[in-house]
Amino acid sequence: MQIKNVAVIGTGIMGAPIAGHLLDAGFDVTVHNRTREKAEALLARGAHWADTPAEAAAQADVVLTMVGYPTDVEDVYLSTEGLIRTARKGAWLIDLTTSSPQLARDIHDAAEVEDKHAFDCPVTGGEQGAVDGTLTLIIGATEEQVAPVLPVLEAFSSRRFYFDRPGGGQAAKLCNQVSLASCMVGYADALALAQQSGIDPERVLEVMAAGTGGSGASRTLAPKSLAGDYKPGFLAEHLRKDIALALQRSEELEITLPGAETAFTLFDMLCQIGGGRMGTQALTLLYQEEAACVAAGLDWSLLDQGDEEDAHECHCGHDHGEGHECHCHDHDHGHDHECHCHDHE
Ligand code: NAP
Repeated sequence: MQIKNVAVIGTGIMGAPIAGHLLDAGFDVTVHNRTREKAEALLARGAHWADTPAEAAAQADVVLTMVGYPTDVEDVYLSTEGLIRTARKGAWLIDLTTSSPQLARDIHDAAEVEDKHAFDCPVTGGEQGAVDGTLTLIIGATEEQVAPVLPVLEAFSSRRFYFDRPGGGQAAKLCNQVSLASCMVGYADALALAQQSGIDPERVLEVMAAGTGGSGASRTLAPKSLAGDYKPGFLAEHLRKDIALALQRSEELEITLPGAETAFTLFDMLCQIGGGRMGTQALTLLYQEEAACVAAGLDWSLLDQGDEEDAHECHCGHDHGEGHECHCHDHDHGHDHECHCHDHE
């Protein structure tokens, strides 16, 4: 199959540079994003604008989605005007979002019924990997199945791992995320200990990098933490979402993930006090004096306020007004909460 038209839905931190690489590779690219401004730079480079996911997919051989939350994925694929119904017969629908394994399976199955191909393909490598076009892809399909769309994937990735079945990519990505979350807590602990011990935290990072105490997170993000650079990169609220998905899966499997539980508590706290849209490296602010947190824009008085207003703690990205029907995939539901989740009873 000769692939010419590619649609990209979600042109945020990751989706925009990915779409840019597709333009560079010569594909005819159509983009849609909830906020049009985030796509303007791509439009200036020759991408076409579409007002809806359905319009973006209308002519597309391949549709890539890179939205925020499982709820967004569900809207884009499974709503009345979603891709499952509106994309062309035979089109490839590839979800790059970090999302729920069960939702990925549901989308795969629904696409098959409609004579379309869908697979999950979360990524790792961060904003820099997206900008450089060197992302690692974690694919919920076999190498053979994915072969027809390889030229599209190769435009923005340098490594691809195949997990052979629908949802397999998301399941593997969540494993990566729990490890990342604990690495982040590890380096945040180390920097706090160094600072309180009166030793140079930068030199401690060098020691960690020279030995086995370092990690990708401490190498790339700890210097930003030390410099007070909390710009995202990778949003803290997205890592909270990922850890919540992993914890939900661990409940289903009846296993305990103590590292992920600790990390969830900390990232949830950071998000509650106003750090959700900061980069994950803002985690280290939790270890600092209140004045430093205030200077960075955090507000400790917000802690647990959400719980008082609404006993249902949700990280799906929706407002939950009265009568709101929730389609979340990443949390427990209170007893009177109407649930349409795909990944738990
Ligand atoms: P982001 O900057 O928030 O981008 C998400 C984009 O999706 C936003 O531009 C958002 O539009 C758009 N969007 C959401 N729902 C939509 C919908 N229903 N229709 C149209 N557009 C919609 O986040 P990101 O950093 O690119 O991350 C995207 C996903 O990749 C997340 O699942 C994240 O966990 C994962 N991820 C991120 C990184 C990273 O380093 N950033 C690395 C690996 C994986 P608006 O902003 O206009 O609402």
